[in-house]
Order: sequence, then C-alpha cells, then structure tokens
Amino acid sequence: MKRLLLAAITVAALSNNAMAQKSDFNYNVDRFADIEVLRYRVPGFEQLSLKQKQLIYYLTEAALQGRDILTDQNCRYNLQVRQTLEAIYSGYNGNRNDPNFIGLEKYLKQVWFANGIHHHYSMDKFKPEFTQDFFNAQARQVKKRLPLEKGQSVDDFIKVIDRVIFDPTFMAKRVNQADGQDLILTSANNLYEGVTQKEVEDYFNALKDPNDPQPVMYGLNTKVVKEKGKVVEKPYKVGGLYSKAITKIVYWLKLASGVAENEGQRDYINKLIEFYTTGSLKTFDEYSIAWAKETKSDIDFINGFIESYGDPLGMTGSWEGMVNFRNNDASHRTQLISQNAQWFENNSPVDPRFKKPNVTGVSAKVITTAILAGDAYPATPIGINLPNSNWIRAAHGSKSVTLENITDAYNEAAKGTGFNEEFAYSDTEVQLMKRYLTLADKLHTDLHECLGHASGQLLPGVDQDALKAYGATLEEGRADLFALYYLADPKLVELGIFPDGETYKAEYYKYIMNGLLTQLTRIEPGKDIEESHMRNRKFVSQWALEKGKDDNVIEIVKRNGKTYVKINDYAKLRNLFGQLLAEVQRIKSEGDYEAGRQLVENYGVKVDPVIHQEILKRYQGLNITPYKGFVNPRYTAVKDNKGNITDVKISYDENYIEQMLRYSRDYSPLTK
Ligand code: ZN
Repeated sequence: MKRLLLAAITVAALSNNAMAQKSDFNYNVDRFADIEVLRYRVPGFEQLSLKQKQLIYYLTEAALQGRDILTDQNCRYNLQVRQTLEAIYSGYNGNRNDPNFIGLEKYLKQVWFANGIHHHYSMDKFKPEFTQDFFNAQARQVKKRLPLEKGQSVDDFIKVIDRVIFDPTFMAKRVNQADGQDLILTSANNLYEGVTQKEVEDYFNALKDPNDPQPVMYGLNTKVVKEKGKVVEKPYKVGGLYSKAITKIVYWLKLASGVAENEGQRDYINKLIEFYTTGSLKTFDEYSIAWAKETKSDIDFINGFIESYGDPLGMTGSWEGMVNFRNNDASHRTQLISQNAQWFENNSPVDPRFKKPNVTGVSAKVITTAILAGDAYPATPIGINLPNSNWIRAAHGSKSVTLENITDAYNEAAKGTGFNEEFAYSDTEVQLMKRYLTLADKLHTDLHECLGHASGQLLPGVDQDALKAYGATLEEGRADLFALYYLADPKLVELGIFPDGETYKAEYYKYIMNGLLTQLTRIEPGKDIEESHMRNRKFVSQWALEKGKDDNVIEIVKRNGKTYVKINDYAKLRNLFGQLLAEVQRIKSEGDYEAGRQLVENYGVKVDPVIHQEILKRYQGLNITPYKGFVNPRYTAVKDNKGNITDVKISYDENYIEQMLRYSRDYSPLTK
C-alpha cells in the first residue's frame, strides 16, 4: 500500500529549471481512448560499468518474464482474450479502415495497457467498439491459433470469449469496493475462486495470532479456492501456480546474483530466489529485511507480489517488476530529509502514543528507472516505499524511492496544455504553480514516501488489516497529510530545500484543486470515486473544505458558469491538515474501523453530478488524456564469440504496438 501515483495531469509550462529547454527526445508514442503512451529516457545508463549493465540486463529480463502473471491475476480470461485479439490483429488481411477493425485495435491497446479487460484505474470492463459478428468471423479465420482449453471446441471457446468481451454484466468490475456487498463474489479478479468474503475472512482470522509481534503478510502470494468443501490457499511458486513464469524469473535472478554489486545485494537476491522456490512467507519477510537493509548498491529492483490494490481485501499482491539505479545528484535532497526523519516524527501533530520513538532506517533516494513491468507497466507510480509489512518497517526501516526520470517525462509531455490556465482561480495561482510546482511536487512525493508512510506506529495488539477495505485509502491519506503538513514547515527552508516560505502554496493549491475538482476528469458521469488514491485526495480536500467553512479557509467560487477553488488562508489550511493527520493516525494506530469507514464514506466517495459534468466539459475542450503510461527502452546484450556479454545497448525506437507484440512473443511463458 505504499505507492504514489501521479495526482493528475496538472503540471504544465515549467519555466524555472533545466527542463525548460525543450529537448529533441520524442516523448510521445501513442494515443487512444483515455490514454497517452509516453517514452522515458534512462540518462546515465551508458556511464555504468559493464558489470552493472549486465546486472541491469539480467534483472530486466527477470522483470519482463512476469508479465503474464499479472494479466492472469487480474482476470482468469485475460490471457485468452489477449491471445485471441493478437492472433486476429496479426493475421488480419481485410480493410484496416473498417470501423470494426479500428475498434478491435483500440480495444486490444486498452487490454495491453490495463493488463486485462478492465480499466487499470476505474476497474470497469472496457466497452468494445466492434461487433460480435465481426469478432466471431475473425476468430474463426485464425482458429488454429486460438488458445483453446483441453477438449474445448472452437465454438465453445468463442462462446465463452463472446460473453467475456460483449456481456457488460459478466465480470463487470475487477475490484469492487462498494460498501455492504460481498467484495469477493462481486470482483472479477482471479485471486479467489468459489469462496465468499466471509469464508475468506474466517479462514484468515483462524490463521492469524493476534499476539504475534511478527506476522507474515497473509495471503500475499496465494489464490484462495475451495477444494472438497474446504477453503485452501494455492501458492504462486516454482511447482505451484504460475510455475512456468516464476521458473524463468528465477533463471534470470540467478544470473543477476552472479554479478551482484556486493554481498548484501547477493544475499537478498538469493533470498528472493528461495521465496519464489518455496513460497514461504517467512522467507519473504527475510528477503524484505535483507532488501531494506541493503542501501550501498547503486542498482536495485522490485520483483514479486507487492501491492494489494488489486484485492478488495488488500491481501494478495499483484505481480510487479521494476529495475533502477541511483541518481546521485538528485539524491542529496532526499538524504537531507531522511537524516532529519526523527525530527519530523517528533514534531508532528500526532498523539505521542502513536509516534515512533525511534524512526529506523528511512533510506531515501532518487532513482533512474531502467525498466517497468507487471503492475508498474505501462501505468507506473512516481514514488515507491517498501516493504509493506508494518512490523518490518518498524523494526528494520524501509526504502523509499522517487522515480525522477518518469516524473520528468510526464512534465515534458504536459508542457503547454493550458490545464492550469483553465482550472486555476486566477493568474496568481497559475503563476504560483509555474514558479514553484515542479519543486513542491517533488517534495510532496519525497515526504509522502520517505517520511509519511514510514511514520507512526500501531498500538500493541492492533491487527494491521483492521481497517480492511478502507486501509489503503486511509494509509495514502495519512502519507499525504504528513507531506502536506510539513511542506509548509519553515524546516524545509532552513534545510535549504525550499527557496522561500511561499513554495508550499503551489502544492496546497494544486492538491485542493485536484481533490475537489480536477480529479473528476478521471471518473465517468454517474460514478462514485473508488480508487484508493482518489478517495484519499477527495476525503482530505473535502474535510478541509467543510471544517474550514467558518473561517472561510477554502472557498468555492462560481464565475461565468465555471467553478473554481480559492484558498483564502494557507496557514489555517496547514492547521487543518495537521488536525486531520492526527485523526487518521489515531484511526490507524487504534484500528478504529468504524471511524475510518465514516471518514472515507462521508468525505471521500460521493461526487456532485453538476460540477462533475462541468469539469468534464471544460476538460474535453483541452484535448488532454487523463491517463498516461510508458513504453520501455529496449536493452540488447552484445556478446563475443564465446557468448560473454561485452556490452549492453539501450535503444528508444520501439512504438507501443511493436513493444506489446514483442513482449507477447518473447515474454509469455504462461501462454505457450
Ligand atoms: Zn503512498
């Protein structure tokens, strides 16, 4: 639950730094539906040593081999749908301007982007813009390439896929968070089968020992199913579920272990291999500890079952991969923050009982991303803080990273869109954001990741899953509030990170404008807010609006039929953030489910339909896509005649379709 996503596409027209010089690198790759696909650069790769390049190469191969795992976790029909569409797309020799073919191509691009048939953010099923007749005729054309199940006829196969693609009521939502429903039965993901929410909760409650000070991450790497009337877990491991993919991952990790930068890194790579081989969650904890403690190496990576947003109960990890290396220049900023971690913890407005007496090992660095995979691809976070286990974070610390080359690519692509000019209250706010937002945004990410998630502690005996379906939203809210509170602290100017006491206002304004208004651009008319980060930004902003009403801290202003937010008192807004931080920390520390539920349901879910319509209309006029993601660079190993790697080349010439088809061809161990 420790990742930060881009708040919204608000960063525009940066003027005060090196990025102002428009580079000739081509950031824009493709555009379809509500998506824009970008490309990121990997500055500094060429300067790495040969051994480091080899390590990155092996790790990127290990990352790409996991792609099918995530696709299958998202829905059990996803791989079949993807294979069928790819077979049709590649074998098609009809008119490529036929609206049906155009619709099929768009749908396939969406399926690739979301790693399945449900939108990566809204979790709703995509609506196909091609007819069932067209699809059926085309599928029969490539019937030899259809991924039939054992004993299944072509007709039966097509019937099943027809329902999956064309029946909007069948598997309608990947992750359902609606209060009061059976969240397992109503979610289309493939993490559970044949079990109810109550059965799953009973099963795990029986496993958990409330007095265990070092609980494992229950359910993290398993599918829960019913066998002979009994609820059982099926582990993802070599010899278990996803064995073919995990075996390949392990193969590349072993090669990586051979060229590790130091002993500590070799240790954690070997622990990860052991975890993938045994499926033991105790081993996963040992891996996480070894990983969190190893901070000397330049190169680092994530490869495993990590974040649990894909599970309505927040337990099973979605497979994810990412490889990166340290950006030494930019890491100075995050080092300053983490060196002062205890000061921030001691001075927060939180009840002392919920504070960490000793903040351990918050290591923070700015990194250059080398590859994105699984749940981080093509849509990616801009900051990550791991591990997720609460007791490990408390006892051994955590690692926090800011993906600066990704943020820079977003910023480059967002230049000159006119977004802030449309939505900000006046030129004062536009200029404020122009001047300070790049820096303030980076600091928000740093504080959210390095300090926010790492702060605070649970009271003894409180279950780390006590907040259930509201846990992720409240945790993101807590980290955001910690960041917001401290952005306005004179300490940041004292440390030389902010140039002056005005800088934070740019982030405050953007945050409130986004939370109350502009993030609605990501929601379809008539829908509530569901995604955890969006709920978090809404409840924080809405709560501040309502609690600050008497003092007129935030004002909603109508002008020429358009709605704006105006912040009248930034200092009081900071106090409100402090109060809410104290309350959210109390909820987490005490495991107060009911208070957490009320906070999210009362302030974080509902949408005003009239304002929503207005925002959507204004946004459409700007012609920007609400979601962005990335294609990866391509790495090629140069070998001598004995097969030894003598260099690794990086290239940026692949387009979106080429990359997706290549990945399906070369990195698809579960479909062969
Ligand atoms: Zn976060």
